Amino acid sequence: MTIEEAKQALQQLQVQMYAYRYALGQISLDAATVGPKDTVEGRGVALSVLAGAMYDMAMKPETIELLEYLKAHKDELNELEAKEVEELLRDHEETSKIPKDEYLAYRQLLNEADAVWHQAKADDDFAAFLPVLEKIVDFNRKMAGYIHPEKKPYDALLDRYERGLTMEKADAFFAQVRAHIVPLLAKIQAAPQVDDSFLKQIFPVEKQRVLSDRLMEMQTIDRGHCAIGETEHPFTSGFNHADVRITTHYYEDNFSDSMYSVIHEGGHALYELGIDPALDYTVLSGGVSMGIHESQSRLFENIIGRSRGYVKNLLPVLQEIFPEQMEGVTAEALYKALNKVEPSLIRTKADELTYSLHIMVRYEIEKRLIDGTLECKDVPAEWNRLYKEYLGVDVPNDRDGCLQDTHWGGGMIGYFPSYALGSAYGAQMVEKMKEDIDYEACLDACDLKPIVAWLGEKIHKYGSSKDPAWILANCLQADFDPSYYTRYLEAKYSDIYGL
Ligand SMILES: [Zn+2]
Repeated sequence: MTIEEAKQALQQLQVQMYAYRYALGQISLDAATVGPKDTVEGRGVALSVLAGAMYDMAMKPETIELLEYLKAHKDELNELEAKEVEELLRDHEETSKIPKDEYLAYRQLLNEADAVWHQAKADDDFAAFLPVLEKIVDFNRKMAGYIHPEKKPYDALLDRYERGLTMEKADAFFAQVRAHIVPLLAKIQAAPQVDDSFLKQIFPVEKQRVLSDRLMEMQTIDRGHCAIGETEHPFTSGFNHADVRITTHYYEDNFSDSMYSVIHEGGHALYELGIDPALDYTVLSGGVSMGIHESQSRLFENIIGRSRGYVKNLLPVLQEIFPEQMEGVTAEALYKALNKVEPSLIRTKADELTYSLHIMVRYEIEKRLIDGTLECKDVPAEWNRLYKEYLGVDVPNDRDGCLQDTHWGGGMIGYFPSYALGSAYGAQMVEKMKEDIDYEACLDACDLKPIVAWLGEKIHKYGSSKDPAWILANCLQADFDPSYYTRYLEAKYSDIYGL
Protein backbone atom coordinates (compact mmCIF):
# COMPACT_ATOMS: atom_id res chain seq x y z
CA MET A 1 0.00 0.00 0.00
CA THR A 2 1.32 3.44 -0.90
CA ILE A 3 0.72 6.38 1.36
CA GLU A 4 -1.62 7.90 -1.23
CA GLU A 5 -3.69 4.69 -1.36
CA ALA A 6 -3.80 4.61 2.41
CA LYS A 7 -4.98 8.21 2.56
CA GLN A 8 -7.72 7.40 0.08
CA ALA A 9 -8.75 4.36 2.09
CA LEU A 10 -8.87 6.55 5.20
CA GLN A 11 -11.34 8.92 3.56
CA GLN A 12 -13.43 6.01 2.21
CA LEU A 13 -13.61 4.46 5.66
CA GLN A 14 -14.80 7.71 7.18
CA VAL A 15 -17.46 8.33 4.51
CA GLN A 16 -18.79 4.83 5.14
CA MET A 17 -18.85 5.44 8.88
CA TYR A 18 -20.64 8.71 8.23
CA ALA A 19 -23.29 6.92 6.20
CA TYR A 20 -23.99 4.53 9.07
CA ARG A 21 -24.09 7.39 11.58
CA TYR A 22 -26.47 9.21 9.26
CA ALA A 23 -28.77 6.21 8.99
CA LEU A 24 -28.68 5.48 12.73
CA GLY A 25 -29.28 9.16 13.48
CA GLN A 26 -32.22 9.39 11.09
CA ILE A 27 -33.80 6.30 12.59
CA SER A 28 -33.45 7.75 16.09
CA LEU A 29 -34.80 11.11 14.90
CA ASP A 30 -37.78 9.36 13.34
CA ALA A 31 -38.40 7.44 16.57
CA ALA A 32 -38.39 10.65 18.60
CA THR A 33 -40.47 12.76 16.22
CA VAL A 34 -43.06 10.98 14.07
CA GLY A 35 -42.49 7.24 14.63
CA PRO A 36 -45.68 5.77 16.20
CA LYS A 37 -45.24 4.41 19.71
CA ASP A 38 -45.72 0.72 18.86
CA THR A 39 -42.88 0.55 16.34
CA VAL A 40 -39.98 -0.12 18.68
CA GLU A 41 -39.42 -3.73 17.73
CA GLY A 42 -38.77 -3.40 14.01
CA ARG A 43 -36.69 -0.31 14.52
CA GLY A 44 -34.63 -2.22 17.06
CA VAL A 45 -33.84 -4.92 14.47
CA ALA A 46 -32.65 -2.30 11.96
CA LEU A 47 -30.68 -0.40 14.58
CA SER A 48 -28.87 -3.46 15.83
CA VAL A 49 -27.95 -4.62 12.31
CA LEU A 50 -26.57 -1.18 11.43
CA ALA A 51 -24.80 -0.78 14.76
CA GLY A 52 -23.30 -4.25 14.34
CA ALA A 53 -22.10 -3.46 10.82
CA MET A 54 -20.58 -0.21 12.03
CA TYR A 55 -18.87 -2.04 14.85
CA ASP A 56 -17.45 -4.61 12.44
CA MET A 57 -16.21 -1.91 10.08
CA ALA A 58 -14.37 -0.11 12.87
CA MET A 59 -12.98 -3.28 14.42
CA LYS A 60 -11.96 -5.43 11.44
CA PRO A 61 -8.23 -6.22 11.07
CA GLU A 62 -7.94 -4.28 7.76
CA THR A 63 -9.08 -1.12 9.53
CA ILE A 64 -6.58 -1.39 12.33
CA GLU A 65 -3.82 -2.26 9.82
CA LEU A 66 -4.66 0.85 7.82
CA LEU A 67 -4.68 3.07 10.89
CA GLU A 68 -1.40 1.66 12.20
CA TYR A 69 0.19 2.13 8.76
CA LEU A 70 -0.93 5.76 8.66
CA LYS A 71 0.24 6.32 12.20
CA ALA A 72 3.67 4.99 11.23
CA HIS A 73 3.71 7.49 8.33
CA LYS A 74 2.50 10.39 10.42
CA ASP A 75 5.05 12.79 8.89
CA GLU A 76 3.40 12.38 5.49
CA LEU A 77 -0.08 13.28 6.75
CA ASN A 78 -1.52 16.74 6.94
CA GLU A 79 -2.78 18.02 10.29
CA LEU A 80 -6.38 16.94 9.72
CA GLU A 81 -5.44 13.46 8.51
CA ALA A 82 -3.18 12.99 11.52
CA LYS A 83 -5.99 14.01 13.85
CA GLU A 84 -8.45 11.70 12.04
CA VAL A 85 -6.09 8.77 12.54
CA GLU A 86 -5.56 9.68 16.19
CA GLU A 87 -9.32 9.84 16.86
CA LEU A 88 -10.07 6.62 14.97
CA LEU A 89 -7.34 4.80 16.84
CA ARG A 90 -8.61 6.14 20.15
CA ASP A 91 -12.13 4.93 19.32
CA HIS A 92 -10.80 1.60 18.16
CA GLU A 93 -8.78 1.16 21.32
CA GLU A 94 -11.73 2.08 23.56
CA THR A 95 -14.24 -0.06 21.70
CA SER A 96 -11.89 -3.04 21.54
CA LYS A 97 -11.82 -3.07 25.33
CA ILE A 98 -15.58 -3.70 25.47
CA PRO A 99 -16.61 -7.29 24.60
CA LYS A 100 -18.66 -7.17 21.38
CA ASP A 101 -21.61 -9.12 22.75
CA GLU A 102 -21.88 -6.77 25.72
CA TYR A 103 -21.61 -3.73 23.46
CA LEU A 104 -24.36 -4.89 21.11
CA ALA A 105 -26.59 -6.07 23.96
CA TYR A 106 -26.24 -2.62 25.48
CA ARG A 107 -27.28 -0.91 22.24
CA GLN A 108 -30.33 -3.14 22.12
CA LEU A 109 -31.08 -2.32 25.75
CA LEU A 110 -30.91 1.40 25.02
CA ASN A 111 -33.37 1.07 22.17
CA GLU A 112 -35.86 -0.57 24.53
CA ALA A 113 -34.97 1.61 27.51
CA ASP A 114 -36.20 4.77 25.85
CA ALA A 115 -39.68 3.36 25.39
CA VAL A 116 -39.69 1.95 28.93
CA TRP A 117 -38.69 5.35 30.30
CA HIS A 118 -41.41 7.12 28.28
CA GLN A 119 -44.06 4.73 29.60
CA ALA A 120 -42.76 4.84 33.18
CA LYS A 121 -42.79 8.63 33.08
CA ALA A 122 -46.32 8.71 31.66
CA ASP A 123 -47.50 6.29 34.37
CA ASP A 124 -45.41 7.88 37.13
CA ASP A 125 -44.07 4.38 37.76
CA PHE A 126 -40.41 4.35 38.80
CA ALA A 127 -40.58 0.62 39.56
CA ALA A 128 -41.16 -0.05 35.85
CA PHE A 129 -38.00 1.86 34.93
CA LEU A 130 -35.86 0.48 37.76
CA PRO A 131 -34.66 -2.80 36.12
CA VAL A 132 -33.59 -0.90 33.00
CA LEU A 133 -31.82 1.79 35.02
CA GLU A 134 -29.98 -0.90 36.98
CA LYS A 135 -28.71 -2.49 33.76
CA ILE A 136 -27.66 0.88 32.34
CA VAL A 137 -25.78 1.85 35.50
CA ASP A 138 -24.11 -1.57 35.63
CA PHE A 139 -23.02 -1.37 32.02
CA ASN A 140 -21.69 2.16 32.41
CA ARG A 141 -19.70 1.18 35.48
CA LYS A 142 -18.31 -1.87 33.67
CA MET A 143 -17.59 0.12 30.50
CA ALA A 144 -15.69 2.74 32.50
CA GLY A 145 -13.56 -0.05 33.94
CA TYR A 146 -12.92 -1.58 30.51
CA ILE A 147 -11.95 1.72 28.89
CA HIS A 148 -10.03 3.44 31.68
CA PRO A 149 -9.17 0.88 34.37
CA GLU A 150 -6.70 3.40 35.79
CA LYS A 151 -9.39 6.01 36.44
CA LYS A 152 -12.22 6.17 38.93
CA PRO A 153 -15.25 4.92 36.98
CA TYR A 154 -17.19 8.19 37.12
CA ASP A 155 -14.11 10.13 35.99
CA ALA A 156 -13.95 7.86 32.95
CA LEU A 157 -17.61 8.62 32.18
CA LEU A 158 -17.17 12.40 32.60
CA ASP A 159 -14.22 12.22 30.23
CA ARG A 160 -16.40 10.69 27.51
CA TYR A 161 -18.52 13.84 27.29
CA GLU A 162 -15.92 16.46 28.22
CA ARG A 163 -12.39 15.20 27.70
CA GLY A 164 -10.25 16.08 30.68
CA LEU A 165 -13.14 16.66 33.10
CA THR A 166 -12.77 14.92 36.48
CA MET A 167 -14.78 14.79 39.68
CA GLU A 168 -12.10 16.89 41.34
CA LYS A 169 -12.60 19.68 38.78
CA ALA A 170 -16.38 19.34 38.75
CA ASP A 171 -16.57 19.35 42.56
CA ALA A 172 -14.53 22.56 42.72
CA PHE A 173 -16.61 24.17 39.99
CA PHE A 174 -19.93 23.26 41.59
CA ALA A 175 -18.76 24.34 45.05
CA GLN A 176 -17.86 27.78 43.72
CA VAL A 177 -21.11 28.16 41.81
CA ARG A 178 -23.18 26.98 44.75
CA ALA A 179 -21.41 29.35 47.14
CA HIS A 180 -22.64 32.27 45.03
CA ILE A 181 -26.05 31.05 43.89
CA VAL A 182 -27.44 29.95 47.25
CA PRO A 183 -27.02 33.31 49.07
CA LEU A 184 -28.14 35.21 45.96
CA LEU A 185 -31.26 33.06 45.78
CA ALA A 186 -32.02 33.72 49.45
CA LYS A 187 -31.81 37.50 48.86
CA ILE A 188 -34.07 37.22 45.81
CA GLN A 189 -36.65 35.23 47.73
CA ALA A 190 -36.76 37.94 50.41
CA ALA A 191 -37.23 40.70 47.80
CA PRO A 192 -40.49 41.81 46.12
CA GLN A 193 -41.38 39.22 43.47
CA VAL A 194 -41.63 39.69 39.72
CA ASP A 195 -45.07 39.46 38.04
CA ASP A 196 -45.06 36.93 35.21
CA SER A 197 -48.80 36.18 35.24
CA PHE A 198 -49.24 37.39 31.63
CA LEU A 199 -46.91 34.60 30.47
CA LYS A 200 -49.26 31.97 31.91
CA GLN A 201 -52.16 32.62 29.56
CA ILE A 202 -53.15 30.29 26.73
CA PHE A 203 -50.94 30.69 23.65
CA PRO A 204 -52.31 28.48 20.81
CA VAL A 205 -49.76 25.94 19.59
CA GLU A 206 -50.40 26.85 15.95
CA LYS A 207 -49.23 30.39 16.68
CA GLN A 208 -46.29 29.14 18.71
CA ARG A 209 -45.13 27.34 15.56
CA VAL A 210 -45.16 30.70 13.78
CA LEU A 211 -43.11 32.15 16.65
CA SER A 212 -40.52 29.35 16.27
CA ASP A 213 -40.00 30.35 12.65
CA ARG A 214 -39.48 33.96 13.65
CA LEU A 215 -37.06 33.05 16.43
CA MET A 216 -34.94 30.97 14.06
CA GLU A 217 -34.94 33.89 11.64
CA MET A 218 -33.79 36.29 14.41
CA GLN A 219 -31.05 33.78 15.24
CA THR A 220 -29.87 33.86 11.57
CA ILE A 221 -30.53 30.13 11.10
CA ASP A 222 -30.72 29.13 7.43
CA ARG A 223 -33.93 27.10 7.15
CA GLY A 224 -32.71 25.51 3.96
CA HIS A 225 -30.28 23.63 6.18
CA CYS A 226 -32.18 23.34 9.46
CA ALA A 227 -35.66 21.95 10.12
CA ILE A 228 -37.66 21.97 13.33
CA GLY A 229 -39.72 19.06 14.65
CA GLU A 230 -41.65 18.27 17.83
CA THR A 231 -40.59 15.81 20.54
CA GLU A 232 -41.18 15.06 24.21
CA HIS A 233 -37.69 16.40 24.98
CA PRO A 234 -36.16 19.05 22.69
CA PHE A 235 -32.80 18.18 21.09
CA THR A 236 -30.56 18.88 18.10
CA SER A 237 -29.24 16.38 15.56
CA GLY A 238 -26.41 17.49 13.31
CA PHE A 239 -25.76 15.20 10.35
CA ASN A 240 -23.30 17.42 8.50
CA HIS A 241 -22.63 21.15 8.28
CA ALA A 242 -25.54 21.55 5.86
CA ASP A 243 -28.12 19.25 7.49
CA VAL A 244 -29.20 19.98 11.04
CA ARG A 245 -32.52 19.31 12.82
CA ILE A 246 -33.83 20.81 16.02
CA THR A 247 -36.94 19.91 17.99
CA THR A 248 -39.13 21.57 20.57
CA HIS A 249 -42.16 20.78 22.72
CA TYR A 250 -45.17 23.11 22.76
CA TYR A 251 -47.23 23.75 25.88
CA GLU A 252 -50.35 25.81 25.33
CA ASP A 253 -50.21 27.28 28.84
CA ASN A 254 -46.45 27.95 28.88
CA PHE A 255 -45.26 29.39 25.58
CA SER A 256 -41.93 30.62 26.91
CA ASP A 257 -40.91 27.00 27.54
CA SER A 258 -40.86 26.20 23.83
CA MET A 259 -39.57 29.67 22.96
CA TYR A 260 -36.42 29.12 24.98
CA SER A 261 -36.10 25.53 23.78
CA VAL A 262 -36.04 26.82 20.21
CA ILE A 263 -33.40 29.45 21.04
CA HIS A 264 -31.37 26.86 23.00
CA GLU A 265 -31.47 24.24 20.26
CA GLY A 266 -30.87 27.05 17.76
CA GLY A 267 -27.55 27.68 19.53
CA HIS A 268 -26.61 24.03 19.07
CA ALA A 269 -27.72 24.24 15.44
CA LEU A 270 -25.59 27.32 14.72
CA TYR A 271 -22.57 25.45 16.06
CA GLU A 272 -23.17 22.48 13.77
CA LEU A 273 -23.98 24.73 10.80
CA GLY A 274 -20.79 26.73 11.36
CA ILE A 275 -18.40 23.79 11.13
CA ASP A 276 -15.86 23.90 8.31
CA PRO A 277 -17.36 21.89 5.39
CA ALA A 278 -13.91 20.31 4.90
CA LEU A 279 -14.61 18.28 8.06
CA ASP A 280 -17.85 16.78 6.71
CA TYR A 281 -17.93 12.98 6.37
CA THR A 282 -14.93 12.60 8.68
CA VAL A 283 -14.70 11.74 12.37
CA LEU A 284 -13.83 15.40 13.00
CA SER A 285 -17.27 16.67 11.98
CA GLY A 286 -19.73 17.73 14.67
CA GLY A 287 -19.26 19.73 17.85
CA VAL A 288 -16.26 18.77 19.94
CA SER A 289 -17.79 18.11 23.36
CA MET A 290 -20.99 18.43 25.33
CA GLY A 291 -19.57 21.26 27.44
CA ILE A 292 -18.62 23.34 24.40
CA HIS A 293 -21.94 22.50 22.77
CA GLU A 294 -23.89 23.59 25.84
CA SER A 295 -21.83 26.78 26.00
CA GLN A 296 -23.29 27.72 22.63
CA SER A 297 -26.89 26.71 23.34
CA ARG A 298 -27.05 28.24 26.80
CA LEU A 299 -25.31 31.39 25.63
CA PHE A 300 -28.09 31.96 23.10
CA GLU A 301 -30.87 30.81 25.41
CA ASN A 302 -29.92 32.86 28.46
CA ILE A 303 -27.13 35.36 28.05
CA ILE A 304 -28.50 36.59 24.72
CA GLY A 305 -32.12 35.35 24.73
CA ARG A 306 -32.90 36.64 28.21
CA SER A 307 -31.00 39.93 27.84
CA ARG A 308 -32.69 43.34 27.96
CA GLY A 309 -31.65 44.12 24.38
CA TYR A 310 -32.91 40.88 22.87
CA VAL A 311 -36.16 40.92 24.84
CA LYS A 312 -36.82 44.51 23.71
CA ASN A 313 -36.70 43.21 20.11
CA LEU A 314 -38.71 40.13 20.96
CA LEU A 315 -41.66 42.13 22.30
CA PRO A 316 -42.97 43.49 18.95
CA VAL A 317 -42.71 39.98 17.46
CA LEU A 318 -44.75 38.54 20.34
CA GLN A 319 -47.27 41.38 20.10
CA GLU A 320 -47.71 40.72 16.41
CA ILE A 321 -48.28 36.97 16.88
CA PHE A 322 -50.17 37.14 20.20
CA PRO A 323 -51.84 40.60 20.18
CA GLU A 324 -54.39 39.80 22.90
CA GLN A 325 -52.09 38.05 25.32
CA MET A 326 -49.33 40.64 25.02
CA GLU A 327 -51.46 43.75 25.00
CA GLY A 328 -50.03 46.52 27.20
CA VAL A 329 -46.92 44.55 28.16
CA THR A 330 -43.78 46.72 28.32
CA ALA A 331 -40.29 45.60 27.35
CA GLU A 332 -39.11 45.95 30.95
CA ALA A 333 -42.06 43.93 32.30
CA LEU A 334 -41.35 41.20 29.74
CA TYR A 335 -37.62 41.22 30.54
CA LYS A 336 -38.30 40.79 34.24
CA ALA A 337 -41.00 38.15 33.71
CA LEU A 338 -38.75 36.07 31.44
CA ASN A 339 -36.06 36.24 34.10
CA LYS A 340 -38.25 35.45 37.09
CA VAL A 341 -36.40 33.33 39.62
CA GLU A 342 -38.45 30.54 41.11
CA PRO A 343 -37.01 27.28 42.42
CA SER A 344 -38.95 24.54 40.67
CA LEU A 345 -39.13 20.85 39.95
CA ILE A 346 -38.29 20.60 36.26
CA ARG A 347 -34.76 21.22 35.01
CA THR A 348 -35.69 22.22 31.48
CA LYS A 349 -38.16 24.79 32.81
CA ALA A 350 -35.74 26.17 35.39
CA ASP A 351 -34.77 29.81 35.44
CA GLU A 352 -31.21 30.73 34.57
CA LEU A 353 -30.13 31.19 38.20
CA THR A 354 -31.39 27.98 39.78
CA TYR A 355 -30.61 25.81 36.74
CA SER A 356 -27.19 24.75 38.03
CA LEU A 357 -28.75 23.51 41.29
CA HIS A 358 -30.82 21.04 39.22
CA ILE A 359 -27.60 19.84 37.63
CA MET A 360 -25.92 19.41 41.01
CA VAL A 361 -28.69 17.04 42.14
CA ARG A 362 -28.12 14.80 39.12
CA TYR A 363 -24.35 15.02 39.47
CA GLU A 364 -24.42 13.96 43.14
CA ILE A 365 -26.73 11.03 42.34
CA GLU A 366 -24.72 9.84 39.33
CA LYS A 367 -21.46 9.95 41.25
CA ARG A 368 -22.90 7.77 43.96
CA LEU A 369 -24.69 5.36 41.60
CA ILE A 370 -21.42 4.72 39.81
CA ASP A 371 -19.25 4.39 42.93
CA GLY A 372 -21.87 2.06 44.41
CA THR A 373 -22.79 4.12 47.49
CA LEU A 374 -26.32 4.62 46.15
CA GLU A 375 -28.55 1.87 44.79
CA CYS A 376 -30.86 2.55 41.87
CA LYS A 377 -33.91 1.67 43.93
CA ASP A 378 -33.06 4.52 46.31
CA VAL A 379 -32.80 7.16 43.57
CA PRO A 380 -36.32 8.62 44.10
CA ALA A 381 -35.81 9.18 47.83
CA GLU A 382 -32.35 10.67 47.32
CA TRP A 383 -33.60 12.84 44.47
CA ASN A 384 -36.41 14.21 46.63
CA ARG A 385 -34.07 14.83 49.56
CA LEU A 386 -31.60 16.77 47.41
CA TYR A 387 -34.33 18.87 45.76
CA LYS A 388 -35.47 19.89 49.21
CA GLU A 389 -31.91 20.64 50.33
CA TYR A 390 -30.67 22.49 47.22
CA LEU A 391 -33.85 24.10 45.89
CA GLY A 392 -36.20 24.03 48.84
CA VAL A 393 -38.95 22.31 46.86
CA ASP A 394 -41.02 19.22 47.66
CA VAL A 395 -41.17 16.66 44.86
CA PRO A 396 -44.76 15.37 44.62
CA ASN A 397 -44.12 12.41 42.29
CA ASP A 398 -41.41 10.68 40.27
CA ARG A 399 -42.77 11.92 36.94
CA ASP A 400 -41.78 15.44 37.98
CA GLY A 401 -38.85 14.03 39.91
CA CYS A 402 -36.26 11.46 38.93
CA LEU A 403 -38.15 10.30 35.82
CA GLN A 404 -38.27 13.74 34.22
CA ASP A 405 -35.11 13.55 32.10
CA THR A 406 -34.39 11.28 29.17
CA HIS A 407 -30.63 11.04 29.79
CA TRP A 408 -30.36 7.99 32.05
CA GLY A 409 -32.79 6.06 29.87
CA GLY A 410 -30.55 7.01 26.95
CA GLY A 411 -27.47 5.67 28.73
CA MET A 412 -25.99 9.13 29.21
CA ILE A 413 -24.30 9.05 32.59
CA GLY A 414 -21.67 11.74 33.10
CA TYR A 415 -23.37 14.13 30.70
CA PHE A 416 -25.25 16.46 33.06
CA PRO A 417 -22.27 18.45 34.42
CA SER A 418 -21.60 19.72 30.90
CA TYR A 419 -24.82 21.78 31.04
CA ALA A 420 -23.61 23.79 34.02
CA LEU A 421 -20.05 24.03 32.74
CA GLY A 422 -21.34 25.21 29.37
CA SER A 423 -23.25 28.04 31.03
CA ALA A 424 -20.08 29.18 32.74
CA TYR A 425 -17.97 28.87 29.57
CA GLY A 426 -20.53 31.02 27.76
CA ALA A 427 -20.36 33.85 30.30
CA GLN A 428 -16.59 34.10 29.91
CA MET A 429 -16.83 33.85 26.10
CA VAL A 430 -19.14 36.86 25.97
CA GLU A 431 -16.71 38.96 28.02
CA LYS A 432 -13.97 38.07 25.55
CA MET A 433 -16.26 38.76 22.59
CA LYS A 434 -16.86 42.29 23.88
CA GLU A 435 -13.19 43.11 23.14
CA ASP A 436 -13.82 42.52 19.43
CA ILE A 437 -17.41 43.49 18.69
CA ASP A 438 -19.99 45.90 20.08
CA TYR A 439 -21.97 43.14 21.74
CA GLU A 440 -24.58 45.35 23.42
CA ALA A 441 -25.23 47.21 20.16
CA CYS A 442 -25.80 43.86 18.40
CA LEU A 443 -28.43 42.90 20.99
CA ASP A 444 -29.99 46.34 20.91
CA ALA A 445 -30.41 46.14 17.13
CA CYS A 446 -31.17 42.40 17.25
CA ASP A 447 -28.36 41.91 14.76
CA LEU A 448 -26.91 38.58 15.86
CA LYS A 449 -24.78 38.06 12.76
CA PRO A 450 -21.57 39.56 14.23
CA ILE A 451 -22.03 37.38 17.34
CA VAL A 452 -22.58 34.22 15.29
CA ALA A 453 -19.60 35.12 13.10
CA TRP A 454 -17.34 35.67 16.14
CA LEU A 455 -18.36 32.32 17.67
CA GLY A 456 -17.96 30.71 14.24
CA GLU A 457 -14.40 31.98 13.93
CA LYS A 458 -13.36 31.13 17.51
CA ILE A 459 -15.24 27.87 18.03
CA HIS A 460 -17.67 26.53 15.43
CA LYS A 461 -15.40 26.16 12.42
CA TYR A 462 -13.02 23.80 14.22
CA GLY A 463 -15.66 21.08 14.70
CA SER A 464 -13.85 18.25 16.49
CA SER A 465 -10.51 18.92 14.81
CA LYS A 466 -9.06 20.23 18.10
CA ASP A 467 -9.49 19.10 21.69
CA PRO A 468 -12.16 20.91 23.76
CA ALA A 469 -9.49 22.40 26.03
CA TRP A 470 -7.68 23.84 22.99
CA ILE A 471 -10.87 25.34 21.57
CA LEU A 472 -11.81 26.87 24.90
CA ALA A 473 -8.31 28.33 25.43
CA ASN A 474 -8.24 29.59 21.84
CA CYS A 475 -11.54 31.36 22.35
CA LEU A 476 -10.91 32.76 25.83
CA GLN A 477 -7.17 33.44 25.48
CA ALA A 478 -7.11 32.73 29.23
CA ASP A 479 -7.80 29.95 31.70
CA PHE A 480 -11.42 29.07 32.32
CA ASP A 481 -12.60 31.01 35.36
CA PRO A 482 -16.11 30.35 36.80
CA SER A 483 -16.12 33.77 38.49
CA TYR A 484 -17.14 35.33 35.16
CA TYR A 485 -20.32 33.31 35.40
CA THR A 486 -21.05 34.04 39.06
CA ARG A 487 -20.33 37.78 38.57
CA TYR A 488 -22.65 37.81 35.55
CA LEU A 489 -25.45 36.17 37.57
CA GLU A 490 -24.95 38.45 40.55
CA ALA A 491 -24.99 41.63 38.45
CA LYS A 492 -28.01 40.58 36.40
CA TYR A 493 -30.23 39.43 39.24
CA SER A 494 -29.23 42.20 41.67
CA ASP A 495 -30.43 44.64 39.01
CA ILE A 496 -33.69 42.80 38.32
CA TYR A 497 -34.58 42.37 41.99
CA GLY A 498 -33.17 45.70 43.19
CA LEU A 499 -30.79 44.02 45.65
ZN1 LIG B 1 -28.53 21.58 24.95
